[in-house]
Amino acid sequence: MPGKPRPPEIAFRKHDHRRCQRQLLSEATQLCAERKLRLTARRRQVLEALLASHQPMGAYDILAELNQSAGEEHVAPPIVYRALEFLMSEGLIHRIESRNAFISCVQPGHRCGAQFLICRDCEQVAELEGNDDGLLAEADNLGFAVDHSVVEITGVCAECQKHAG
Ligand SMILES: [Zn+2]
Ligand SMILES: [Zn+2]
Ligand SMILES: [Zn+2]
Repeated sequence: MPGKPRPPEIAFRKHDHRRCQRQLLSEATQLCAERKLRLTARRRQVLEALLASHQPMGAYDILAELNQSAGEEHVAPPIVYRALEFLMSEGLIHRIESRNAFISCVQPGHRCGAQFLICRDCEQVAELEGNDDGLLAEADNLGFAVDHSVVEITGVCAECQKHAG
């Protein structure tokens, strides 16, 4: 059951983020069950860290977060990188190249390219769900075999513009 589509600009507005978290976590869990993938405790922790907000997190922020909640057991960087690789390869999270950071996907498992609006004031990121058909069609016309497509648009969101006075 696909979740109700969330308007992408919700990332920039005040909203009940627990609903995003619950819905995305259940979609991710379901997707792993369908694909017979193991969402291990560690992978889940990394995903949950990213689901905490609409702001991207660097690998070291995630590591710090995990080490804070892990108690006795120390989490080493390769463990986080492996979990990130897994989550990316299954389309549960994306990498924001320009920030060298990661963000949870709003449509877990989609196969098309990802497009992001990145607010440089509040640092929230909205993922646009449409696919950039125009660009991809052009690549196709040129006989170019696309294996990865990310569009990152930086600017100021409507909320931050209001507050800028
Ligand atoms: Zn939210
Ligand atoms: Zn996505
Ligand atoms: Zn903003």
